[in-house]
Amino acid sequence: MSDSNFNGKLIVFSAPSGSGKTTIVRHLLKQPVLNLAFSVSATSRMPRGEEIDGTDYYFISLETFKSHIKNGDFLEWEEVYRDNFYGTLTKEVNRIWALGKHVIFDIDVAGGLRLKRKFPDRTIAVFVKPPSIDELKIRLKKRKTEDDEKINMRIAKASVELATAPQFDYVIKNDQLDTALEEAVQLVHGYLSESDEQGE
Ligand code: 5GP
Repeated sequence: MSDSNFNGKLIVFSAPSGSGKTTIVRHLLKQPVLNLAFSVSATSRMPRGEEIDGTDYYFISLETFKSHIKNGDFLEWEEVYRDNFYGTLTKEVNRIWALGKHVIFDIDVAGGLRLKRKFPDRTIAVFVKPPSIDELKIRLKKRKTEDDEKINMRIAKASVELATAPQFDYVIKNDQLDTALEEAVQLVHGYLSESDEQGE
């Protein structure tokens, strides 16, 4: 993919919506020692709250999204919720590797596993598990960014996603945020140091 000599890794965080993976990913991005940059996904959904185009997502129309699919511009993409498409652009990952940084992803379970299959030797795929479905519902309601119908849709999907946890390299249980954050830093640091030692 990238023609630079830097052997960039893929750090994938996947989880049901509301399980806290975004908080964990943001925390990891603040650790200079990890040398990470966030893979900004493209999405056809509308911006929410204070989201910024080009920082949180590349917000594009459904039509543009479909033309990227047709042109083979995505490393992976999913229709995560009906009519809401999300995808990782190949050029986004190459851009980050060209900066000499490892790429961290906040993507859905199917997309995370797809990246792992595509790059098995340079990916760590981590699943963030919420304490329970009931707790997930409470968190989504507290967030106040979705209406009840959308929350129910996310909860229904979460049950299916939880069943995929064993397919990931690691599962971090997010009962206690502080512990989960620390565990995530140790895990990613360990993975990056180990692969450096192997001279990959
Ligand atoms: P949200 O609408 O809450 O921002 O995201 C909904 C879900 O889509 C989350 O699980 C998020 O991680 C996932 N997602 C975001 N970007 C991508 C992507 O590029 N590919 C895939 N497969 N899922 C994504």
